[in-house]
Amino acid sequence: MALRTKHTAAPLNIFTIMSALARKERAHNLSQGLPDYPVAPELSELLKEAVINGYNQYAPMPGLVELREQIAGYFNRIYHSDYCNINNITITPGATYGIFTAFAAILEQGDEVIYLEPAFDCYLPAIEINGGIPVCVQLEASHNFEIDWQKIKDAISPKTKAILINTPHNPTGNIWSKKDWDTLADLISDKNIYVISDEVYNTILFDGQQHIPGYLQERLHGKVISIYSFGKMQHITGWKIGFCIADETITNAFRSIHQYLTFSVNTPAQYALARYLELPKPDNEASVFLQQKRDLLISGLAGSKLKLNCTTKGSYFQLFDYSALSSLPDVDFAQWLATTHKVATIPLSAFYKTPPGISQIRFSFAKEDAVIKAATDILARL
Ligand code: GLN
Repeated sequence: MALRTKHTAAPLNIFTIMSALARKERAHNLSQGLPDYPVAPELSELLKEAVINGYNQYAPMPGLVELREQIAGYFNRIYHSDYCNINNITITPGATYGIFTAFAAILEQGDEVIYLEPAFDCYLPAIEINGGIPVCVQLEASHNFEIDWQKIKDAISPKTKAILINTPHNPTGNIWSKKDWDTLADLISDKNIYVISDEVYNTILFDGQQHIPGYLQERLHGKVISIYSFGKMQHITGWKIGFCIADETITNAFRSIHQYLTFSVNTPAQYALARYLELPKPDNEASVFLQQKRDLLISGLAGSKLKLNCTTKGSYFQLFDYSALSSLPDVDFAQWLATTHKVATIPLSAFYKTPPGISQIRFSFAKEDAVIKAATDILARL
């Protein structure tokens, strides 16, 4: 009996490969985007409290009411709106799940989905496994990976069912401006095209930049599902908990799949996060914390043979060009760095179906300062 391959993405993803290599080589690990610093002590206390207080059984299918209320209050406050309520927020076991389930909810066999490369590696399989046909629009390294609207316009066909966007963007750190959202609305507001909006780095923005959520775009009303991640917001990627926000029609379609995929999400984590969101904290806490790490990485590599083309505006990733250092393809270069110099990174080609041969590697700076410092000291000497 043959096993059917339902997607054309890599059999084993680069994050698994590079994290395993980093462990094997005991490398300074700036590869996979996961923090190596501890969780907030209040949050770990609240998780313990949840278990002790009996929050150990299934939560309601869409998520604990207390958590959805806290998210609604928080997002309405930071984005100056009253859009969010418990009926348009659904708690998910992470954002990757949210993206997959959104496609499961909206796609029919043969629907086309436009996505932009470089693209986070779960997008392509999420489209293909759910019967969609991915239509790729390339962002050019020579134009700092800015959006080419003409290319997006040309990619739209009568079969287009959705466009997948990501802001702040992994791996480039670019962000969508209001003008970008308006241009998208010009292109699709009169069409039956959904927007799956991966906004997991919405709380990590640098140099005073602002995040503009997809779900709030009035001209795209009824089309957008915005996906968020507590893993990124609270530095707890291993808790695998996030949420999505969409109008009630999309939310109901999403929940109709969600209830049969997982039914509900880890209750103690939901309780802890609901209580944690009640505590007063500066809204820009993650941005300030990570901007200092971004700057430590960039200053550590200033004057090195690794070239910074474009400073990241959001997310916890920074691309560097290594062409002054090596002519190896990026996967080989990243392997060489990890094995020979004990610094683990991610090759940019992992974000492409057909890599265009760009000599860039991605660093994650969601790492202890000592790790960033040790890695940049090594790299600056190459
Ligand atoms: N988003 C993380 C990154 O880009 C990895 C998440 C994953 O491994 N699925 O590094």
